[in-house]
Amino acid sequence: MLSKKVKILGQAISPGETHQLSLDIAKLHTGSTIEVPVIVSRSKEPGPTILFIGGIHGNEINGVEIVRKLIAEKYHIPNAGMVICIPVVNVFGFLSQTREFPDGRDLNRVFPGSIRGSLASRFAYHIVKEIVPHIDYCIDFHTGGDSRFNAPQIRVGKNDTESLELAKTFGTRFVIKSAKREKSFRATLYNLNKKVLLFEGGKSLNINNDVTKIGIAGALKVMQQLGIRNFQKELALLKNTNDHSYLVKGSAWVRAKYSGLFHPTVQLGQYVKKGDDIGSLSDPFGFFEKKQKSTYAGYVICINQSPIVNQGDAIVHITTDAVEIPT
Ligand SMILES: [Zn+2]
Repeated sequence: MLSKKVKILGQAISPGETHQLSLDIAKLHTGSTIEVPVIVSRSKEPGPTILFIGGIHGNEINGVEIVRKLIAEKYHIPNAGMVICIPVVNVFGFLSQTREFPDGRDLNRVFPGSIRGSLASRFAYHIVKEIVPHIDYCIDFHTGGDSRFNAPQIRVGKNDTESLELAKTFGTRFVIKSAKREKSFRATLYNLNKKVLLFEGGKSLNINNDVTKIGIAGALKVMQQLGIRNFQKELALLKNTNDHSYLVKGSAWVRAKYSGLFHPTVQLGQYVKKGDDIGSLSDPFGFFEKKQKSTYAGYVICINQSPIVNQGDAIVHITTDAVEIPT
């Protein structure tokens, strides 16, 4: 809950105010300052604070788009509590359309960071020091790496029951129980006793409208659940509900049997049996095309959309342990 006085990045945030702040802690090698916009909106009514963050990985643009739309549609203006939006954290990676920082570091592997560490580590340090103390909840928006297209899913820690309840509220078809990666933003927030949902949907360097819609609807549902704002009208228009949702406790990758062009025939979310055809692999000349069968039974939660794959590459991610979440 908010205390009376809130000061973020040196700016006093009074009840009822919205500010665009800037986290400027680094320069480009040209000398230009890199600014990371932080949009803070505080209600006159007390309540919890939620952080929406995108672009920890600079090429995961669908996450950036979801947070951008929350702001553009003014969904970030709360009726209680406070909403903090950081649409693009890794501005360096966003500029060069790469996952990492210019020092080659993955920002999501250097938390909680250090004031004298690498550039990425210093960034992490400032986020943890300046932003995190103000928040109670966080939704961290990601996409699949490279061409791996993830079915929209929420990942929660294995023993984090409160976040699991919020994940059910968010309402993606799949909720994945996954071990927290050491030194990730999620692990750091968890250690600081903040509730955090990690959203994964779509693939890198891509915007998919269905993924965006699911991300936005989820964010609104969570805000509504936390009493930050009622979005009944908006959610009715977004029409985002699943007949069935699944809690996934285990999953595995089907690997390419041959090198070549990959032609998937399965859809995200589809159930496949072991031995079912999930696509084909061919040479580029028209002489050779062989079926690729599933080596597992379960729901398809990620498809590698890379047109060219090597033998042994991970091509389709399938749940091996999924139970229906009672509604
Ligand atoms: Zn990511």
